[in-house]
Amino acid sequence: MVAPSSSLPQPAAGAANPEPGGAPAAIYTITTPLYYVNDKPHLGSTYTTLACDAIARYQRLRGRRVCFVTGCDEHGLKIQRTAAAAGLTPQAHCDAISARYRDLWQRWGISHDRFIRTTDPHHRRIVERFFSRVEAQGDVREGRQQGWYCVACEEFKDEPHEIDDPECSIHRRPLEWRDEVNLFFRLSRYQQQIEQLVSQPGFIAPASRRREVENFVASGLKDFSISRVGLPWGIPVPGHEGHTFYVWFDALLGYLSALSDPGEDLDLEPLIERGWPAQLHVIGKDILRFHAVFWPAMLLSAGIELPRRVFGHGFLTREGQKMGKSLGNVLDRESLLERCGSDAVRWYLLRDIPFGEDGDFQQQRFQDLVNNDLANTIGNLLNRTASMARRWFAAAVPPAGTALGADHPLAACCQRARASHGQAFERLDFRAAAEAVLELAIEANGFLNERAPWKLIKQVEQVEQVGADLYAVLETCRWLGLLLAPLLPDLSQRLLLQLAEPAWCSDRSAAAAADRGDGRSWDEALGWGQLPAGRPLPEPSPVMQRLELDAPL
Ligand SMILES: [Zn+2]
Repeated sequence: MVAPSSSLPQPAAGAANPEPGGAPAAIYTITTPLYYVNDKPHLGSTYTTLACDAIARYQRLRGRRVCFVTGCDEHGLKIQRTAAAAGLTPQAHCDAISARYRDLWQRWGISHDRFIRTTDPHHRRIVERFFSRVEAQGDVREGRQQGWYCVACEEFKDEPHEIDDPECSIHRRPLEWRDEVNLFFRLSRYQQQIEQLVSQPGFIAPASRRREVENFVASGLKDFSISRVGLPWGIPVPGHEGHTFYVWFDALLGYLSALSDPGEDLDLEPLIERGWPAQLHVIGKDILRFHAVFWPAMLLSAGIELPRRVFGHGFLTREGQKMGKSLGNVLDRESLLERCGSDAVRWYLLRDIPFGEDGDFQQQRFQDLVNNDLANTIGNLLNRTASMARRWFAAAVPPAGTALGADHPLAACCQRARASHGQAFERLDFRAAAEAVLELAIEANGFLNERAPWKLIKQVEQVEQVGADLYAVLETCRWLGLLLAPLLPDLSQRLLLQLAEPAWCSDRSAAAAADRGDGRSWDEALGWGQLPAGRPLPEPSPVMQRLELDAPL
């Protein structure tokens, strides 16, 4: 038996990526959790996925190759039973639910590069290969598991063995007694290495969640079970008849198998060129320990590099209450999308909830923010400025005149907004990134009101000045469109269209600039004075509809 190597592969200098300073990896791989297909998608998974989408788009706009991974976790007893209850085979159930995820992500404009299902045949081969490495390391042992089990949680509970009819405190359902011999992963062997890992600044984010994981590790890591007996809906464990893999040894490996194509039969090494290690796993805080402790130990055992960072975000409540079927207050994201559109929801979730903390969905606040920020402050600014330019300057962008100077007050505001927007994205602070955009729009509104071109235009000798003022505001609107691109790609596109600017495609990893034809990168386009004077402006139309929600969503 070979003892696991005692040296912990140190994350490279770029460990804190996406923080500045380190050498960036060739491919920026970012993952959502693989969502469990027990039920239809809910708002929590949308929130995680929208957040990852913003990061992926930002990295692409900065010229990086991105591999944005999402997908579905499709095995387990719970799924087998849910399918049976619906009169479906587990496969048919999984096909239906995962198709629903795919469809919804498309409608939300999610730009994932990879969608992995744990029922994909190429995933199964990766799981088998990974397992045989871990087994060869001597990290798999048999062990007896006895206790009360919740099928909905798919885990053993701590309830004392001798009590009668215990129920799960989360699901309020009876626990089932289990007594079985399972395979265990020797997590206990990795105590020291994992202690070192979780204490590294930046590995667990936000920093406020680090302590909780450190405490868990300090209490002593115990081997955990990686198989179940007599559960047909799972991947069979090679060489251990009757065993199928249990949740983590199956689902977590989806992050690796996602990097290969269906039909490909890749070993683990070539995956590294495809984008491993992941730069960032974004997950809900409830599965932080599995990602920050179990998963790195499994990777150490298999001799594979560790992900650079695990980010555990908070949960969403609604009007101060936990959302749940029993409370009847689940926010249906399909109707949310239909009635409000993805820009509105993206804005609210990214701008109002500090990423990493718990958030509360409040309908009135949602409506107010969308109407004030997007429809008024940003949308109306563009609309009224473009209308004046069209009226007084032959339906075109006015001559820039004195507006082109780098010392123009709005030029300075744009540069400041760009700097805070970039810094905010580097620390995954969407709220600050959104605020930087909003602040810029507020400054442009202030400038416009102060200059009052609608008064100045009455004096013939001021026409040039009015042109320069309108130019400066339109140019600022171009910057708003650019800075919004990773946050609200659709609004960004509509906004830029009103300036006859091509949209910024951040959907795919192909260099964002290449699609535009003019060869400018997003970074290059963020330079003052690039809006061509004299360019015809299209008929203005509102870029953002106001939300009028008279009934609860
Ligand atoms: Zn439970």
